Amino acid sequence: MSYINENFLELQESYLFSTIAKKVAKYTEENPDKKVIKLGIGDVTRPLPKSCIEAMHKAVDEMGISEEFKGYGPEQGYEFLRKAIVENDYKSRGIDIAEDEIFVSDGAKCDTGNIVDIFAKDNVVAITDPVYPVYLDTNVMSGRSGKFNLQQGTYENIVYLPVMAENDFKPELPKQKVDMIYLCFPNNPTGTVLNKEELKKWVEYAKENHSIILYDSAYEAFITEDDIPHSIYEVEGAKDVAIEFRSFSKTAGFTGVRCGYVVIPKTVKGYTKEGKEISYNQLWNRRTCTKFNGASYIVQRAAEAVYSEEGQKQIKENIDYYMENAKIIREGLEEAGITYYGGVNAPYVWLKVPEGKTSWEFFDTLLQDMNVVGTPGSGFGPHGEGYFRLTAFGTKENTIKAMERIKSKGC
Ligand code: PLP
Repeated sequence: MSYINENFLELQESYLFSTIAKKVAKYTEENPDKKVIKLGIGDVTRPLPKSCIEAMHKAVDEMGISEEFKGYGPEQGYEFLRKAIVENDYKSRGIDIAEDEIFVSDGAKCDTGNIVDIFAKDNVVAITDPVYPVYLDTNVMSGRSGKFNLQQGTYENIVYLPVMAENDFKPELPKQKVDMIYLCFPNNPTGTVLNKEELKKWVEYAKENHSIILYDSAYEAFITEDDIPHSIYEVEGAKDVAIEFRSFSKTAGFTGVRCGYVVIPKTVKGYTKEGKEISYNQLWNRRTCTKFNGASYIVQRAAEAVYSEEGQKQIKENIDYYMENAKIIREGLEEAGITYYGGVNAPYVWLKVPEGKTSWEFFDTLLQDMNVVGTPGSGFGPHGEGYFRLTAFGTKENTIKAMERIKSKGC
């Protein structure tokens, strides 16, 4: 008989995006004349930068020439890409990261999910609430969550760090000792950020408690303000306590191409039960070699092209385009008298649902009265209730139209 991993039975069905899709499908079927604008899902819409396309074409051609054909590549990523990452994402910001501290992958979802493999099951995990759901669900699957409390909407062994207007969307340090801390800044879903001083508190906490910070900076390219760190390693001491996740998905439109990377400095250590220090870099390297055969050569050449002079110009154009949408959303909400957060250093705007409505009720109003789709905040955690996410990843025309509708009809 084969027995299942019963942790999977503790997972709560996520009805968020499927419920949204069902509601939208029903509405459009019943109202075929209405043009619904979708500002819900966090996927990009702009085509890939030309430099990436050219690099992929070239790489495909190489694959057809026997002298240049590539079979299995290094599991950790090709040297040309690891080098480009070190030079452009770290050295240029005065951060000293070595090439063998970079692990190239097929995206940050896999990395933020798979990283749980190298941690003991009895580590105490802290997440923000609301949160990008991957951090929570992968810890449930690997047995760190305990039972789900239906009434509270939380797991018994997970430490939740509420982020809400009352604390300016800045998580407070946990009162108890936690071992693994997930932080994501610029934040999905709230679109808010932490400055260096605020991030420093977390690095100090992690140092004092021998904890690890799992820092997701998938949206760093959208930062527009000067004093906001793009990498946690801009904070002194973070190289001893933090693992960083990056993605080309939103930075360069790679959601369908798939490429990302993890940074694990060799100085980041965990402990055996006997108290022996072990480098997480060494564990992740072992895991990667065992379970992964590397991201595709063609894709890695495309990622390398992101760092070329032309590539940088082209991704900036796309990012500026999305951030202009974010501005249109912010200004529209302001005119409509709706309180909002984020949208300055992130492609997400997190708005406060008007008094008396739940996130889902607001979703229905927006869909039915204004034909605009967003994401109810309660889908990201209990403290997301009363909030709503709009994304800047739509087209400019649709974003303008959506905000016109919200302004003219009011909420
Ligand atoms: N991390 C965060 C915070 C995200 O919002 C997303 C995607 O929406 C990801 C990671 C996943 O990125 P990737 O496309 O590289 O898997």
